Amino acid sequence: MTGAGVKALRAVADAVWPRTCMTCEARVEEEGLCPACWRDMPFLRAARCDGCGLPLPGPGDEPDGGPIRCDGCLAEPRPWAAGRAALAYAGPARALVLRLKHGDRPDLAVGAGLWMHRAARGAVDADTLVVPVPLHPWRLWRRRYNQAALLARELARHADAAFAPQALRRVRRTPTLDRRPRAERMALLDRAIAADPAQVAGQAVALVDDVMTTGATLAACTEALAGAGAARVTVHVLARVERDAGIVISEAMEESPDEDRDDLHPAPLRVLHRSDPPPPPEGRDDRRA
Ligand SMILES: [Zn+2]
Ligand SMILES: [Zn+2]
Repeated sequence: MTGAGVKALRAVADAVWPRTCMTCEARVEEEGLCPACWRDMPFLRAARCDGCGLPLPGPGDEPDGGPIRCDGCLAEPRPWAAGRAALAYAGPARALVLRLKHGDRPDLAVGAGLWMHRAARGAVDADTLVVPVPLHPWRLWRRRYNQAALLARELARHADAAFAPQALRRVRRTPTLDRRPRAERMALLDRAIAADPAQVAGQAVALVDDVMTTGATLAACTEALAGAGAARVTVHVLARVERDAGIVISEAMEESPDEDRDDLHPAPLRVLHRSDPPPPPEGRDDRRA
């Protein structure tokens, strides 16, 4: 097709399906954010905790130039080497996460993955294996795509790194973990996630999820990766929930199994088709969740 033909088709497409902002209904000329959402998007640019990405007061380095950690990461050390977050889970970032997760907008991962790559600040390179936090097959079947896998694929693409969507898998479902004491979260996640040693042994792994709240699921994934021989694990999330900011976190739980919605339209990118038979049911765990 000629350039003019492509241009004409594009004009028709724009008229029929007008482009909207990544997080609101405002019309935009190019893919991305409208000016208001761009202004309000809570990018985490200033000093951030090296363990979980939380914004911190101060210039961002210890006097000796080493990395800084927030009180939470000092009190409950993270099993991963470093953690990065592109956004604070607030305002338009919250809308973005919910659209990506529930709104059947897998296309939003393209722009979000670029922000995650910037936030990674060199922690992901061509020698890194990029691995998403897995969904249980039942939930994948219901939701049709794993938003963490979409983000991981984009992060890998920007970093020229290998993408390993099957390196981790859920071997059983877990109930909602949030608001449970740490010991209970850990017990519920024990052996819920398995890593494939053939893929991860000796590798530097970038573990990817959409949101970090308590970090319990990311910790369980990190421990599974380390148990399978991964050399180093860093964690990369699109948005970090700041508990102290009074945010209602139940809507974007990384760990919540109950938030699936069935009123979604077919997604342009499907990992599993709706017409496919569901994965074989498991034992009681599955029903309870
Ligand atoms: Zn907007
Ligand atoms: Zn921290």
